[in-house]
Amino acid sequence: MEKVFPEALQSLKSADPLIYQLIQKEKLRQIRGIELIASENFTSSPVMEALGSCCTNKYSEGQPNARYYGGNENIDLIEMECQDRALKAYGLSEKEWGVNVQPYSGSPANMAVYVALLQPHDRIMGLDLPSGGHLTHGYYTAHGKKISATSIFFESLPYKVNYETGYIDYEKLEEKAMDFRPKMLICGGSAYPRDWDYKRFREIADKCGAMLMMDMAHISGLVAAKEQASPFEYCDVVTTTTHKSLRGPRAGMIFFRRDERAFEGKINNAVFPSLQGGPHNHQIAALCVALKHAQTDEFKKYQVQTKKNADALAKKLIELGYSMVTGGTENHLVLWDLRPNGLTGSKMEYICDSVHITLNKNAVFGDASALTPGGCRIGAPAMTSRGLVEKDFEQIAVFLDEAAKIGLNAQETHGKKLVDWKKGIDGSKEVAALKGKVEAFAEAFDMPGFTRDSVDM
Ligand code: PLP
Repeated sequence: MEKVFPEALQSLKSADPLIYQLIQKEKLRQIRGIELIASENFTSSPVMEALGSCCTNKYSEGQPNARYYGGNENIDLIEMECQDRALKAYGLSEKEWGVNVQPYSGSPANMAVYVALLQPHDRIMGLDLPSGGHLTHGYYTAHGKKISATSIFFESLPYKVNYETGYIDYEKLEEKAMDFRPKMLICGGSAYPRDWDYKRFREIADKCGAMLMMDMAHISGLVAAKEQASPFEYCDVVTTTTHKSLRGPRAGMIFFRRDERAFEGKINNAVFPSLQGGPHNHQIAALCVALKHAQTDEFKKYQVQTKKNADALAKKLIELGYSMVTGGTENHLVLWDLRPNGLTGSKMEYICDSVHITLNKNAVFGDASALTPGGCRIGAPAMTSRGLVEKDFEQIAVFLDEAAKIGLNAQETHGKKLVDWKKGIDGSKEVAALKGKVEAFAEAFDMPGFTRDSVDM
């Protein structure tokens, strides 16, 4: 009998050689590079197996045991197990907290909270993007251009870090909050190297009558391992992505307090049907796998090591003569202020890309222009997943120092203007030599989700 859908049982390699080949190249890029993007990680084989499973085939709009489609007896069990593990991972009682595991990712999770608990044009306050906050916390430019949907649909006033210290300026935040009277105060960020003073946030929220939301996307793995303060004691709502320090699949979660304010129904309705359609059941299954792992001793050790590695990197860079925002770190990331060295974040990112070190340029508070950020954000979660320890991160600092020196040298020989400067980088012998060292270094470490031998090229 002829098959109705002959490609269905083929391997990817024979069904789509182009995509197969690009995936092999991507595997090789990941294995050979030093990955320092603070929001990235390398997830595990079982998480990827669940992600690539038949759960992707199923529609399940609604909540477990209350769906708009039939055939959900297995999906219901997966989603309920995921909810249960999510609460356990953060030591939460089912009586006090509930969780929605359906958000497709972090941005939709945040939007769902706003849609659930605010009216259009209600006021919100989050950490400003150039201070290390995230777009979805209400960002608009200095000229008032509304960049994020959050600032289009809600009125936002950012709070900032202290210009001198790099720490959140709680005094100013309180003063602004008392004038602005936001309905929601948001803590959490994407480039803040210090822990959050939730007690202080709560006091300010109570004083101005705001709800308090924490977006713990970056640090949710550290929080699960109790390596950062828990936001659950003081916050009303906690959102997170699941693919950063938590090391799961790309997805999002919303934790909400169960009390007389009836957040549960509002948040569940905002996720579906207000904003999303069918849950991505392959993501939920994969998240469930990651949350089992997040409760192990191995995961605790991993988070401890991540912090030690970020700290070792910061200390070594300082020893080499560089400046870190807030003078160091107490979490998984370091914010490197390159302005005193006369190099921009964009140039540093460019040289690093050329030598197969991946990091990103980042605004440093006080930057004259948002277009030329003065710093770089460096994170330890991904390379710690590959088994690197402090001495390896010190070696990475040495590579970064070499890269910065190549960049500074090219400014002297070719000029500071980007087009001229790039001529000193592209095709340079020093860049090629450093790239060789970086790749040999990185390739020597294991990769959690796949092996070097599995790369078909
Ligand atoms: N919240 C914070 C603090 C983030 O850093 C990020 C992404 O980096 C997000 C939300 C958005 O997550 P996603 O990219 O999954 O939408």
